[in-house]
Amino acid sequence: MYDKVCVACGTRLSEFYQTYMLGCPKCYASFEREITLAIKKTHGAVEHTGKIPKTDGIDKQLLTEYQNLIKEKENLAIDGKFSRIKEVSDDLLRLSEELKKRGLL
Ligand SMILES: [Zn+2]
Repeated sequence: MYDKVCVACGTRLSEFYQTYMLGCPKCYASFEREITLAIKKTHGAVEHTGKIPKTDGIDKQLLTEYQNLIKEKENLAIDGKFSRIKEVSDDLLRLSEELKKRGLL
């Protein structure tokens, strides 16, 4: 199987599948498709057993990434690194859409 690697921190997609942990905020963008699929699978399994879904590892992880990105964006603004702010804003937008879909935002 093709193993994707996050260009920012070097976390492999196979590692994500093992731990369900993201190495850095960029991982979410790198593995967006796979993460979405993994989330769907997890939710399917939860619905199948009839249990009430709790905030799982990915939910927490996504919220943490979101908060980290907000902090990063603030720091970039302070440092005047405006070209990076655009990138971070795009990541934030993607994450906030995912969080809204999951009822976390
Ligand atoms: Zn990464």
